Amino acid sequence: MKNSIKNWPKISAFISDLDGVTYRGKKPIESAVNAFRLWNDIGIPYAFVTNNSTKSAEEFSSKLNAMNIPADPKKIITSSAVAAQKLKKMLKPKSRVMVIGEKALVEAIAECNFTIADENVDAVITGLDRSFTHKKLAKAQEALLKGALFVGTNPDFMLPKDDGFEPGAGSILKAIEFASGGIKPIIIGKPNPDLVLKALSVLGTEPSSTFMLGDQIQTDIMAGKAAGLKTIRVQTGVIEKGPFTISPDFDIENLESIPLGAFAKK
Ligand SMILES: [Mg+2]
Repeated sequence: MKNSIKNWPKISAFISDLDGVTYRGKKPIESAVNAFRLWNDIGIPYAFVTNNSTKSAEEFSSKLNAMNIPADPKKIITSSAVAAQKLKKMLKPKSRVMVIGEKALVEAIAECNFTIADENVDAVITGLDRSFTHKKLAKAQEALLKGALFVGTNPDFMLPKDDGFEPGAGSILKAIEFASGGIKPIIIGKPNPDLVLKALSVLGTEPSSTFMLGDQIQTDIMAGKAAGLKTIRVQTGVIEKGPFTISPDFDIENLESIPLGAFAKK
């Protein structure tokens, strides 16, 4: 597809995915660094939404800033924070919650005044856990068979890293689902629109000129469409195998492919 200015509607803001769009693992994506710096300089606001529950908004902000991508922690919406807020609406205060996940998810749950436990729990919340074990799987299985609520921060099967991929939180969700005889989790992250809608309210921009940026059609592009935004797929991260039921409005090689003329004048 040719990205001539004529074909681009005016862009007033972006909501962007992180992994595979701004960086791969510890490695920044050069074209993304240039693009976000330019947008920051010309006053195009942006927020980030990530299914990755292993870091807090402050930690993601430090990581991006160290890569020369200006990022305000208030404009980084993580699946761990939104999942914790969702549980707060679904459970009684001080309910017992089992967390399969890393420090950022444990902290997000603890901040909502839940009791973190692995026996007699009211809910099991699962994100990416790099120390996932058979024992944790057994505890989650036991909890679900006794009727605990099952919540997943995200369904991603894989996560891009510097030199390839690692298994994503969705792989752990599938293991628990299988072990519990098919109990499916409530998913908070993309492709559901919760994170994107939260980002939109933080930005306060018009949905009609706010664009969703992502590398994955089945998560980012679906979430953007579900939130009513125009979508751009960038080919710097996970390249999925189709066919897909939806397609992005724009499909670009890298973020520098978006022409300067597409931006709304201030
Ligand atoms: Mg991604």
